[in-house]
Amino acid sequence: MNNMYPFVNGPLPYEYGALEPFIDEKTMHLHHDRHLQTYIDNLNSMIEKNPGLKNMSLEMMLCRFPRLPRDLQIPVRNNAGGVYNHRFFFSGMSPSGGGSPECPLLDAINRKFGSYEKFKERFKASALSVFGSGYAWLVLDRWGLKIITTPNQDTPLIKGQIPVLNIDVWEHAYYLKHYNLRAAYIDDWFNVIDWEKAGNRFSDAVRYHVH
Ligand code: MN
Repeated sequence: MNNMYPFVNGPLPYEYGALEPFIDEKTMHLHHDRHLQTYIDNLNSMIEKNPGLKNMSLEMMLCRFPRLPRDLQIPVRNNAGGVYNHRFFFSGMSPSGGGSPECPLLDAINRKFGSYEKFKERFKASALSVFGSGYAWLVLDRWGLKIITTPNQDTPLIKGQIPVLNIDVWEHAYYLKHYNLRAAYIDDWFNVIDWEKAGNRFSDAVRYHVH
């Protein structure tokens, strides 16, 4: 996946219908080909108008967001955030997903939340608590694992937190199949979480914090 200007919308790592019956093919088409594409187009045109951003990676733009010129902060937060968050979300799911995490992520979840089942309850409650549009995340910061939510296209990177897992709870992520029932969508999403990917992200984040 290219991480610098000009950004392109790479293909999903699975077929559009591969997450059926949990996430429907039409939603995946619209979500990836239209919603994410729009963020990519807007990000590219913002960078064209502000060439100082040309040599910055997506992560760098978001990590350095508070130090960017004031008039760039909101467009970067929305557009770079929209690309980062969607790529993270799509690549965090798999048709062979579901089940539960493995060690060492499972250990860390058990220590922090008591059990995987308790983690699931807390994560679902957080995802339900997002008012309007946004995301729920499992992140790692210097104090350990944490469940957080972000509004709109804000990302945890802005606050120095390293993401392990996220769910998009914008209505466009589920409305065609689940209508207004966000809870049903969250329950279905648990069946397609790529825990191997999340485990790798967690191990990378731990190494980042140790060094
Ligand atoms: Mn979305």
